[in-house]
Amino acid sequence: FLGGKTAIVTGSNSGIGLGVAQELARAGADIVLNSFTDADEDHALAESLAGEHGVKVRYIQADMSKPDQCRALIEKAGVCDILVNNAGIQHVAAIPDFPAEKWDAIIAINLSSAFHTTAVALPMMRKAGWGRVINVASAHGLTASPFKSAYVAAKHGIIGLTKVTALEAAREPITCNAICPGYVLTPIVEKQIPDQMKTHSMSREDVIAKVMLDRQPSGEFATVAQMGGTAVFLCSPAADQITGTSISVDGGWTAL
Ligand code: NAD
Repeated sequence: FLGGKTAIVTGSNSGIGLGVAQELARAGADIVLNSFTDADEDHALAESLAGEHGVKVRYIQADMSKPDQCRALIEKAGVCDILVNNAGIQHVAAIPDFPAEKWDAIIAINLSSAFHTTAVALPMMRKAGWGRVINVASAHGLTASPFKSAYVAAKHGIIGLTKVTALEAAREPITCNAICPGYVLTPIVEKQIPDQMKTHSMSREDVIAKVMLDRQPSGEFATVAQMGGTAVFLCSPAADQITGTSISVDGGWTAL
């Protein structure tokens, strides 16, 4: 049902972004994949996604830590019916030890990039007479954990931006919502395991079971396909009146 629509997914050469791109392509949307790299594999990924789903897929390199490149991504795409602000990084450290440059990078990539892309995409959606902005926040947009100051601040921030975007477009057929994943086993989570092992003096298995999934009452990781399915739902007519809210896909984490 998304035939003829174009979706731009930031940070989509791996993990949740790629999972969302997969499901939007399965629903018929043309896709713009993005990351900060410009590797052969990035372009090959676009080709294979296009072949798999019979849609057009382009890969456009842009570094989401740079405001100009965020804006240029949308301008280069030239059309944006669905914008998924997904690019994100993590750093785990106590506040006194948290490197200032990591704070700045996390705020830039996980929060400010969505402001810049949305600023360019909204006029395109208005011109087209339809649009969806989907911000990938986190359970950490609604709750906190120690040692993740920048990440939690950025994710709470993007939920605020989601509400403002929704209100500014409320009279138009344009919605903006956030998806709040719990733990999904993607590279960003994989990379946290060694730090968490050090911080908690635990084995890998114990970090997964006692630190990560301890917060997730289902006891299971959520999957990238489930994030993609939620994005597809938010693009469907059933979601026309869903705007300015966040949908948790977290195995019950935020119910605790
Ligand atoms: P990931 O590391 O697999 O993916 C992150 C993506 O962002 C990659 O494609 C990477 O290339 C891209 N990226 C990183 N820096 C970038 C930059 N400067 N410019 C452009 N692209 C950049 O991680 P993921 O788990 O798929 O995370 C995707 C989003 O989901 C993030 O916003 C993350 O905070 C959020 N999230 C993840 C989880 C989880 O458990 N995995 C939970 C909640 C929220």
